[in-house]
Amino acid sequence: MLIQRGGLKVVAGLGISGVAAVNFLHEQGYRVAVTDSRATPPGHDQIPAKVQTSFGKLDEDLLLQAEEIIISPGLDPKLPEIQAAAAKGIAIVSEIQILRRATDKPIVAITGSNAKSTVTTLLGLMVKDAGRKVAVGGNLGRPALDLIKDDPELYVLELSSFQLEATSNLAAEVAVVLNMSEDHLDRHGDMMGYHTAKHRIFQAVKKVVFNRDDSLTRPLVPDATPMQSFGLNAPDMNQFGVLRDDDGTIWLARGRERLLQSSDMYIQGTHNVANALACLALGEAIGLPLDSMLNTLKTFKGLEHRCEFVKELAGVRYYNDSKGTNIGATLAAIDGLGAAIEAKGGKVAIILGGQGKGQDFTALRDSLSKYAKVAVLIGEDRPLIEAAISGTAELLPAATLKEAVEICQQHAQANDVVLLSPACASFDMFKGYSERGHQFVDCVNSLA
Ligand code: ADP
Repeated sequence: MLIQRGGLKVVAGLGISGVAAVNFLHEQGYRVAVTDSRATPPGHDQIPAKVQTSFGKLDEDLLLQAEEIIISPGLDPKLPEIQAAAAKGIAIVSEIQILRRATDKPIVAITGSNAKSTVTTLLGLMVKDAGRKVAVGGNLGRPALDLIKDDPELYVLELSSFQLEATSNLAAEVAVVLNMSEDHLDRHGDMMGYHTAKHRIFQAVKKVVFNRDDSLTRPLVPDATPMQSFGLNAPDMNQFGVLRDDDGTIWLARGRERLLQSSDMYIQGTHNVANALACLALGEAIGLPLDSMLNTLKTFKGLEHRCEFVKELAGVRYYNDSKGTNIGATLAAIDGLGAAIEAKGGKVAIILGGQGKGQDFTALRDSLSKYAKVAVLIGEDRPLIEAAISGTAELLPAATLKEAVEICQQHAQANDVVLLSPACASFDMFKGYSERGHQFVDCVNSLA
């Protein structure tokens, strides 16, 4: 029996990427409907009047009429309404799948637990500086389906594990999983599920970049697929890595060739050296000239809320790493900044806490013992974190971010660093990491 669904595309979940999906599909001439559990979802006034809407609950009846459901990255595919549609054989795809179907232009696909936005932005600038017409977006900045109107030569996309879960055969020109540490286990169940979702990025890929320092980033792909690696050790021929001079100078290198001193970049910390090397490898895979890429590296200032230097007060440097929303990011911040001040006897006063997303916080213990003098704990999962890290540094509670900053100031002395890198999501106390970061910067600026 032929099931007649009338070719209806149903977008599940509005928001920024949902709005782009509705508008794109509508312009393509499809019949489009959208459903969202919120009564007035963000962007409800930015879609064409002709599009059928059903707000206030995820409309299962509407979903069941779909030929295809375009699921927004914020929605869990395990929701019963979505599962009911899946059980009926209705395809559930991401907006990235729609983009792939709509264009044959090359896609550079970037995922990982951390560094996605930094690498996507930096690579996007490298491509632009090399004079190529590029569209940059996906999980950051503009949604993927908004980029098509730019008619670019090439897409550079940041992809989340949620987007990848609903994307098949992406056939990226080059793809990378930058690093893997625990995150979003509340949604993916365990590391295995998270790993599987991330590695979908390699389906039908043409070239691969992987991180030598993190075996979980290396994919199983056909032998003939060109692979290039980056890592923080000395690189083999044609690979990207780090060479160290006797005087401690750190060089970004390709094979034996020294390319650029790490001190010639604005972005700081060894994690950012890894990010720069990842960009060089990805850039090489799409044919960008090396000189041009190195020039971009020398001018890139980094992104707000990622180990962002705020100010120095009484010899204490304050850093906003509000985007440190998981343990991997926070470890990179503590280790990167801690190692830099160690020689002068400096220590880190860190603000940790928020919503822990099911992570195992004992993983912070070694770095805290080594580099932290005090950890001020805020937010919902404070008791959990306190139990996991007790005995590493002095642990103090704070009811507000302002109080936390003041406690850090009281405990810090010249050469120390005060660091907001919570290793947690922010939604228990803030609208998001960006509000948390801005409040931190305001608190720091109001310190006397
Ligand atoms: P994402 O988009 O994956 O969240 P961001 O570039 O926004 O990545 O950075 C998120 C957090 O991860 C920030 O706290 C940043 O300092 C940290 N970070 C950046 N690069 C790395 C890296 N290579 N390894 C670990 N953490 C990193």
